[in-house]
Amino acid sequence: MNLHEYQSKLRFGDFGIPIPRGKVAETPEQAYDAARELGGKVVVKAQVLTGGRGKAGGVRLAGTPDEARAHAQTILGMDIHGHTVHKVLIDPAADIQSEIYFGVTNDRGARLPVIICSSEGGIAIEEVAATMPDKVIRVRVKPEIGLRGYQVANIASNIGLPREHWKQFGQIAGALYKCYVESDATLAEINPLAVTPGGLLAVDGKMSIDDNALFRHPDLAALRDASADPPAEIEARAAELSYIKLDGAIGCMVNGAGLAMTTMDMTKLFGGAPANFLDIGGGASADKVAAALRIILSDPNVKAVLCNIFGGITRCDDVARGILAALEEVRMEQPMVVRLVGTNEDEGRQIIDESGLPNVIGATTLADAAKKAVEAAGREA
Ligand code: GDP
Ligand code: MN
Repeated sequence: MNLHEYQSKLRFGDFGIPIPRGKVAETPEQAYDAARELGGKVVVKAQVLTGGRGKAGGVRLAGTPDEARAHAQTILGMDIHGHTVHKVLIDPAADIQSEIYFGVTNDRGARLPVIICSSEGGIAIEEVAATMPDKVIRVRVKPEIGLRGYQVANIASNIGLPREHWKQFGQIAGALYKCYVESDATLAEINPLAVTPGGLLAVDGKMSIDDNALFRHPDLAALRDASADPPAEIEARAAELSYIKLDGAIGCMVNGAGLAMTTMDMTKLFGGAPANFLDIGGGASADKVAAALRIILSDPNVKAVLCNIFGGITRCDDVARGILAALEEVRMEQPMVVRLVGTNEDEGRQIIDESGLPNVIGATTLADAAKKAVEAAGREA
């Protein structure tokens, strides 16, 4: 789950990182009031869960409250990379001398948190990483030891940070690392960490929280902005299904993450492409199966459905009943390949067979199922 800039920065502030003390506005009038209260120059910033807002015109400086209102008028409702702007952040404008990139994320290869830092922060950090890789420094952190002073000093020296900022840089680095760890984040990023006459300031912030850890952070879970999520993902969350939409034509309904991945790989092996990852979980009830099928069929790219269920705790007859229940609600024109193996597989198959559904195709092995699904999707395309 991603947090908005204003949410991320407030959290950074809680850990002692200096942030601009701005206000969120949902209307141009509120933006005017916020700018007037703050006084002086402000920056009006689109709050959308995507990067590159500056380049897209979603970050604008305003010298007066009237100007702030006008910018808010322009930015609210704007579409930035497919995200509609519903809120703007009004921050006191910072007097930026230079921009540092400072982030903490997971280094999956090393299985350790890693600090990423660059003197060339700001709006083009991806470009810097691609064209000037030596301008991006990476320092791994052993979680049992934590971030050490010498590591921070190495980073500060490497990016050529003037000495007078080192002490504050050390505090910010320690605080961001702590914030990252204690939030169960997968990313905590300040870009830019601005060098200003008054010291360092986190002008932009972004956090991603590990969804699987949200249960122990109810305060963070409450920050979720579902308006940015695809409706299918909202429904999947409500039904407690793991669903990730992809671009292919074969809708996969599978139980177990490992089997779901294998099923996706198998569709590729036979020349197809999965439309989604979907794990209906262990002990899936008929209700869950019905929700899963509804979600799969809501994707217009789906040309065939591949249902691959291993009945362990989940019983194949429950799954079969779930499929029939779903098909009473949703019309399915696409063919569906069904492979049911394991607990109560005979009952499951019998239920499907006796239903007389015209577009259901049975399969026995996983390879057989994947092949049939790819063929069926090809016929429909
Ligand atoms: P992003 O484009 O989504 O990363 O949004 P940012 O908040 O990082 O803003 C983009 C750029 O706008 C920054 O890199 C700065 O160069 C500039 N900017 C943002 N806030 C301020 C500010 O308060 N003062 C000044 N002078 N520039 C700012
Ligand atoms: Mn930024």
